[in-house]
Amino acid sequence: MSRPVTIVTGGSRGIGAATCVRLAADGHDLVLGYVSNEAAARATAAEVRAAAPEARCVTVQCDTAEEKDVARLFDTARAELGPVTGLVNNAGVTGPLGRLADATTENLRRVVEVNLLGYLLCCRRAAQDMAAGGGGAIVNVSSTAAALGSPGEYVHYAATKAATDALTVGLAKELGPAGIRVNAVAPGVIETDMHAAMGDPDRPAKAAAGIPLGRPGRPSEIASAIAWLLSPDASYATGAVLRVSGGR
Ligand code: NAP
Repeated sequence: MSRPVTIVTGGSRGIGAATCVRLAADGHDLVLGYVSNEAAARATAAEVRAAAPEARCVTVQCDTAEEKDVARLFDTARAELGPVTGLVNNAGVTGPLGRLADATTENLRRVVEVNLLGYLLCCRRAAQDMAAGGGGAIVNVSSTAAALGSPGEYVHYAATKAATDALTVGLAKELGPAGIRVNAVAPGVIETDMHAAMGDPDRPAKAAAGIPLGRPGRPSEIASAIAWLLSPDASYATGAVLRVSGGR
């Protein structure tokens, strides 16, 4: 049997990096997307090869908010690894923590363009390629923020994640007849660089008291849910939004 070929956007760090390592161990060949941190992309690719020496792993610089970059990401995948069978739409940003009243237009625009337009561009191209190839699976990385709303932190980010859930449900219905499954994973608070980037590196530790399991999650705990949704074990799951949040 041929190996699955999976694109992971934002594969250089955090949840995306853990997902690349997990998928390689599960037998996937990978395209690891990153926007600017080439060193992190190389380091994660090295981890992938250490975890699964047989796995092929190609790194591609790609801003998912840019149509031409997304085209290059998918073109490279097909040229280097063959028909794409999987997409993990993971690249996301929040901008600084704060109230909507204080957010800049530049920040709002970037969050919408990366988290929503970027997911749409990648889903559109995956739908085209996977339909031509006879099927596939997409996992969109959402957030529990979609349901919680994240007041005082980033309601604009939460809104893009709610849109991700709607995208997942609708696209699953649209693509089911073509043999393409579309699901989402909604993480709670996970220990990644994202919290420092939004201005509070201690946010996961501070959140622990409000999490029923008493701690933030690890990137590998999200990766395992993504890997399951991409796998044949999830062959009847589509349109699902799976919360992986320690109960929060
Ligand atoms: P992270 O540690 O900050 O890593 C972000 C990744 O996305 C990096 O690989 C980064 O590439 C890439 N990226 C950022 N902007 C991009 C763009 N415009 N185009 C392409 N790639 C881009 O983030 P994370 O915490 O792992 O988050 C991953 C996903 O999980 C996001 O969708 C986030 O919303 C979601 N999530 C996270 C949490 C959490 O608590 N961490 C909770 C719920 C949901 P570079 O390395 O090149 O910068």
